[in-house]
Amino acid sequence: MVNRAIPHSDAWFAALEKFNPTQAAHSRYIVKAAGSTSVCSVCGDTPTTDFEVVGPSIEPDAPVIFRLCDDCYGIRAAAGGRKKLVLLCRSGVRSIAAAKRATELGAEAYNILEGFEGNTDDQGHRGLIGGWRKRGLPWKQN
Ligand SMILES: [Zn+2]
Repeated sequence: MVNRAIPHSDAWFAALEKFNPTQAAHSRYIVKAAGSTSVCSVCGDTPTTDFEVVGPSIEPDAPVIFRLCDDCYGIRAAAGGRKKLVLLCRSGVRSIAAAKRATELGAEAYNILEGFEGNTDDQGHRGLIGGWRKRGLPWKQN
């Protein structure tokens, strides 16, 4: 039976604890810390949207509605059902945050240290002291 409990309700937490106790504990902590049930189940950000998971592999009685912010939804959508992600940004700061969120969402995520251009040097310039490009790894610009 499909469980359409409202995210962060007592019924939703009870169902999630049976299905994924780690995620339930994490979401309880997030909601309590935020002092609101209107926050993202994964990171506590707002605004959020409720999404319903559909498909043949839904476990009976597992909650199917999840409350996610745009970032967490985007990570989940980008994964497209794949379980492994490799994330790269300019300096590695945003991609490590994204990798942490992807991991919380159930993916196996890796961050590329230093990002594409690395940190800034003493002059405030990137691309000179680290990063994918500086290390001579393959890349192509469109
Ligand atoms: Zn989020």
